[in-house]
Order: sequence, then C-alpha cells, then structure tokens
Amino acid sequence: MNYKQPIGKIKETIETTLDRVFGVSLENATDEQCYKAVALTVRDLMARGRSEFMAQAEKSHAKQIYYLCMEFLLGRSLRNNLYNLGIEEDYRTALSEMGLKLDALYDQEPDAGLGNGGLGRLAACFLDGLATQGYPATGYSLRYEYGIFRQKLVDGWQTELPDFWLPGGKIWMQAVPEKSVEVHFNGHIEEYWYNQYHVVNHKDYTKVLAVPYDMYVSGMDGRGISRLRVWAACSPEFDMKLFNSGNYLRAMEQNAMAEVITKVLYPEDNHLEGKSLRLSQQYFLVSATIQDIIRRHLFRYSTLDNLPDLVAIHLNDTHPVLAIPEMMRIMLDECGYGWDAAWDIVTRTIAYTNHTVMNEALECWNVELFKSRLPRIYQIIEEINRRFCAQMHERGVDGYKVGRMAPLNDGYVKMANLAVASCHSVNGVSQLHSDILKDRVFHDFYTELPEKFTNVTNGIAHRRWLNQANPSLAALITDLIGDGYIHNAQELEKLKKFQDDAAVLKKMAEIKRGNKVRLSNYVKKELNLSLDPDSIFDMQVKRMHEYKRQHLNALHILSVYQRLRENPGEDFTPHTYIFGAKAAPGYYFAKQMIRFIVNLGNTINNDPLVNKKMKVIFLEDYRVSLAELMIPAADLSEQISLAGTEASGTSNMKFMINGAVTIGTLDGANVEIHDSVGDDNIILFGMTTPEVEALKRNYNPRTFFNSNPVIRKAVDALNGGFSGVSFSDIADSLLNIDPYMVLADFDSYARAQKKAETLYGDRCTWSRMCLINTANAGRFAADRAIREYASQIWNAEPVPEKGAAKHSSARK
Ligand SMILES: *Cc1c(COP(=O)(O)O)cnc(C)c1O
Repeated sequence: MNYKQPIGKIKETIETTLDRVFGVSLENATDEQCYKAVALTVRDLMARGRSEFMAQAEKSHAKQIYYLCMEFLLGRSLRNNLYNLGIEEDYRTALSEMGLKLDALYDQEPDAGLGNGGLGRLAACFLDGLATQGYPATGYSLRYEYGIFRQKLVDGWQTELPDFWLPGGKIWMQAVPEKSVEVHFNGHIEEYWYNQYHVVNHKDYTKVLAVPYDMYVSGMDGRGISRLRVWAACSPEFDMKLFNSGNYLRAMEQNAMAEVITKVLYPEDNHLEGKSLRLSQQYFLVSATIQDIIRRHLFRYSTLDNLPDLVAIHLNDTHPVLAIPEMMRIMLDECGYGWDAAWDIVTRTIAYTNHTVMNEALECWNVELFKSRLPRIYQIIEEINRRFCAQMHERGVDGYKVGRMAPLNDGYVKMANLAVASCHSVNGVSQLHSDILKDRVFHDFYTELPEKFTNVTNGIAHRRWLNQANPSLAALITDLIGDGYIHNAQELEKLKKFQDDAAVLKKMAEIKRGNKVRLSNYVKKELNLSLDPDSIFDMQVKRMHEYKRQHLNALHILSVYQRLRENPGEDFTPHTYIFGAKAAPGYYFAKQMIRFIVNLGNTINNDPLVNKKMKVIFLEDYRVSLAELMIPAADLSEQISLAGTEASGTSNMKFMINGAVTIGTLDGANVEIHDSVGDDNIILFGMTTPEVEALKRNYNPRTFFNSNPVIRKAVDALNGGFSGVSFSDIADSLLNIDPYMVLADFDSYARAQKKAETLYGDRCTWSRMCLINTANAGRFAADRAIREYASQIWNAEPVPEKGAAKHSSARK
C-alpha cells in the first residue's frame, strides 16, 4: 500500500480528526489533542495497510506467526510509524504549515511500558522485524492498566509511582469487543462415560471476559504490518442467577476478581513471583489467545488437522507455557480429538525460547494452588507428565534423571520442563546461552532429545535504535554508503572502507560530541549538573540486578575517586559515569545498589578536588524513550555481567550500532560482538564461563580482599558510607558470599578501564574503533533474527510481494 498523501490532504485529515474526536478547531487544540489526532490518522493508515497485507497473506496461505509474551516494551509509536511508513517528512511539513512542531508532538506520547526490560523490548523489536520481513504476525499480550512503575529517587532511595499510561497511550488501540472470549477459573471437574464417549465437564467455574484491543506495528516501507493484540480482563455481565439464588457475595466477588487480572504488570525481572494472581494472568493470556487462534483457523479451514502447516505459535520465555495444556484442553474437550492426534498437532505447532539461566526465574507452581485455580489444566499436565515419564522409562532412562526432567515433580508444576518436554523447538538467545542450556540448564533433555535444541541470537530494530535515535549518524552513513543498510543492516559493513579516512572519522567524532551535548542539556535540566562533553561518557543502563554487577562498576569508581584524592596531580582522562536502572520494588539489595551509586555520585560531584575530572550521574526512570536519548551519546558500553549469567543482552547491540566501544566480559552476545569486531575493537576483561565454574567450587572473596589493597580500601569505605548512609550490607555481601564474584573480577576490570582511558586518549584510534563497531553491528538486526526463526523454527515463508503470486500446497 502507498501511504503517501499530498500535504494538503494530511492537513485536512488532521483537522477533521480534531473536530470529529475532540470537537475543537486547530486554533483551540492543545498539543496533546494534536498528538492524538495525528496518531489517529496514522493508525487509520496502518489499519488499512494491515488488511491489505493480510488479504495478500490469505491468498498465498502464508503461515501465520503468533508470538506470545507477557511483556511488550514498545516505548513510543508515533515517530517509529511515521518513519517506517516513509511519511515523516510529509507530516513534518504539513504540521509546520499548521503552526505545529512534530518533535513537540512526539514528546506528548507516553511510553507504552508493558514490560520490564530486555525481554519485553525484544518482543517489541521482533514485531518490527516480522513486519519488515513480510510475515503475517500477531503478538499477544495483556493490556495492563498500569505498566512498569515510574521511578522516583528520594535521597537515593527508589520509590515507585503508578504508570497510568492509558490516557495518552490507548489512542493506538482499537477495542474489538465482538472478538471477546471467556476464560474459566476455579470450580471442579466432572467426568463420566456416555456410551463410548469420555465426557469432561468443568463445573461451577469463575468466568472472566477477555476483551481484545489491537494495535499495529509497522515494518519498514509499510509492506508488512504486525498486529499486537492485548487482552483486558472484564467481569462478565453481573451473574443474575447467582444473585437471585441468594449468593450475593459470590456474585460480587466474581466481579471484583475479574478486573484485577490485567491491572498491573509484575515488575519482576529475572525473578519468579510465585503469586496466585500471576498464575491467573498467565492462564488468562494463553487461554484467550489459544481460543482466538483456534477460532480463526477453524473459521477458515474447518479443521485443525493442518494447523502445524499454517500456524506457528511461539512462546517467548516460560510465562506463556500453559498454552500447551490449554491447547490440549480445547482439542480434547471441545473439538473431539483423541490424545495422540491432539498431542501431535500441539507439539508440532508450538516452539519455546528460553531467556534466562537464573534459577530463581525458572517457574514452578505449587500443585495445590495450581489444582484449585486450574483444575482441568492440572489434569492435562498430569497426563502429559505420565506419558512423558513412561516414554523415558521405556527408553531406559534412569529414574533420577526422569524425575529431573518431569513436568510434575516434588509437588510443583515445572513450567520450563513442560515446555522442553512438549515443544518441537527450544532455543537460547545467544550462542553461549544456547550452549549453557545444553550443557547445564537442560542437559538431561539435551542428552535424550538433542534434535530439539537450536540457537537464535537476539537482534534489535536497528531503524529505531540507529536511524530514529541517532539521525545525524544515520545521515552520515547514508551519505557514505547509500541507504541500503536501512533494509539490509549487513550493508553497514561497507563502512569499513572508511576506517582510515581521517575526514570521516572526524565527522563521526563530531556527531558523537553533538549527541553528548544533547544528553548534557537533558542532564542540566533534570539534575542541574553540567557535564563535560569531552570527557568519556561511560554508560551502564539496564535493570538493576546483582548479576549485571552495577556494583562492580560503582566499586571501581569509588577506588578511582580514592586514588585521585590521594594523587590530585595524576594525569587522568576526564570521565563521566552514567547510570540508568530500575530495581524490582521488593529487591532490597538492588535498591541499596542504586542508593550507593547516587550517594557516591553526590560525594564525588560535590568534591572540588576531583569534580573537574570525574562525575557520576544516575538518571531517573530509565525507559525506552530515555534509552533513545542516552545510548547515541555513549563512548563506552558497560556489559560487565558475570560470565554465564546474561542470556544475551540487547543494549550491548544498541550501543555497538551507535558507535560505542564495549567494555565487557565474555558473556551473552558479547561473545559474538567480540567475534565480529576482533580483539582490537572491544575491551574484554574477567573470567570466562569455565573459569567461573572452576573458581565457584571453593570461592572465597576474602582472598581478593586481603591481597588487593585497592579492593580493601574501597570495600572498607562502604562501611563508612556516603551522604550519611552506610553500605555495610553491600560490603558484607561482597566479603562473605559475593554470589556474582565481583571481587574476583575487580582487578581485571580496573585494568580494562585503564586501557579504555588510554585508547580514548588517542582520538583517531578511538574513532576507528567506533566506526568498526557500527560497521559490524549488522548481524545484530532483528530482521536477521526473524529470518532465522522463520527458517530454523517456524518453517515459514514471507508473504510474496503483490503480483508475485506464490504457489501453495495448503488447501482448504
Ligand atoms: C534494550 C533495553 C533493555 C535491555 O538492556 P540489557 O542491557 O540488554 O539488559 C532494558 N530496558 C530498556 C528500556 C531497553 O531499551
């Protein structure tokens, strides 16, 4: 579809929308109303684009991709959609002729924060990649009324404010009440034989209505448009029957329970919240979604026999794994399938991606809780478990090993085991992570079912993170190598031929400096602090977590501070350390880490002896739109997790494509970044995964404390505290357990930091490193990841371009 319109037409549509929706004329409209009117015109264009694209998909019987995820961290949509549809400049012109500034309208949009961090952002980037690569895709999630909390720091301590994003955000969503479905909880199961039929009835259940809201995510050029369908929980009509029978309280209770389900996003990252409400959210998502998928398919094909040929269902992480027993339930209880036929179809349709090796994030549900909340689903899991264990015993697998793999064990439903036992494909999200799944996390499964395991390294929507977030760098790249890289990020490699071109390197350095000034202006406004744009901008932005080791970074900053105070004359490259991170509200230690960084920063920033040379900044409320401002301004990208703990990371990719140099461990996708840029263009430090494993067996952090005076002095200062707050809990943890081996990697990290400063001092070398990072970032595009999912896992082909009709074997 062609999204281009004459400027006059754009202006007219915006004005009529203002009048129709808000009853205001252009002169009287607020910026907020103008943003909404513009968003509505863009949404209408995408709705038409989507139906044209889907008509094309239907004709070719292209496989539908359904991507299930509890989180989609979309950020803002307006700029992304205008950019992708190729109409940003036309809108800019039209609006300016109307006396409006497009960039001011962009700032009216709240972030859609329906996710915590990397997992949710990946899902959002994949909707862009799916659309761009031409796959008919629907993401499924929940319409949380409150997204990830807004973070406010009070004397360094994180407090959480509700993120009521809907007033500005729902403009992108269209309710589709006629597609609502019922989801059933509680109650009990009645079974009997009727003639030769085994009848299963779910009785006295609690009913919750799932109402879908649709929004669209455009791909480059608007050829493909993805849909995100989010479900809102609603109480069904007041149950008059219950009410009349005198059961007044029950009737009221049902209504209250229902809407709670999609009230808030769980603010946990890499951690399991074992609450009944969380289980309800998960089942609510998968039940509504699977019903929706099956209904559509039956409407078109009148059978589910061909489902695996025409539909791929992807479970993004363990949270939506109940899709497996839910689909079995519908096929057995509602569609008349026998177990074997249903199992064959379900397992050939559904695939699973694992996103973490953190033990505390691998979901387990207490059997009693599970049984009472989801009685029929529990029965089905029992049967899956029985058959899986029988099959393994039959193969001669020993009993302990079968127990470790069983979906039901020790009184728990083990969601990851259920996923691996059932799905036809299991993948990790970086080469190292996928190897760890095979060697450690799912080793038992790997030895029995090796053919299921594969890897797809994560990727990012490079058009958002490079072209939109860093327009000056994108313009320079387009000047140098043309605009082919916008579609095919691999073409960024053409930049390599400029690696010794002094004029190009100088321009890149000027662009970086411009982005640093842009960020400094924001910092001045937010914190009333002036930054030196010629200092190293050293950034660590990601969720606050011990395994990510922000405290390693902070402890090192503290040691530098102590050194500079003792040697004020030391030749030191000015350094600005920048952090952004939210901590899970109940994760005390992570909140304490934030306070440590903030208070240390206050001490340093106010110390005239050092504050011309170093500053420490913590920016509040890290989120997608803030990341888009921060990342293009980074010189150094901190990716310092303990080797073997970060599944992939994606901010490492965003930094790389924006020409920042990684200082990092050989963890997650850092390993592949290292493969791409070579030893000279990344600053590695620390133990490798096998070294970590070896040292873990008898690790004593005090050895490092006792033998290294720099560590000793810094850790001792934690006890003394900063700004009147002692951080002895952090010191105690480091000295007594140090679960993520901060002290073991400290010295190596300090040397890597020194190396970074030396390299940065040689501006020409540094700029070349930056260019080489951008030039090699192409393989980390979401487009590439999607093509790999399609060929290795989904066995899917893109919708053919209009006119090029594809022969298809799929029949009605
Ligand atoms: C990319 C991104 C993340 C993921 O960061 P990692 O460093 O890969 O953990 C988290 N939050 C936001 C807002 C992001 O944009």
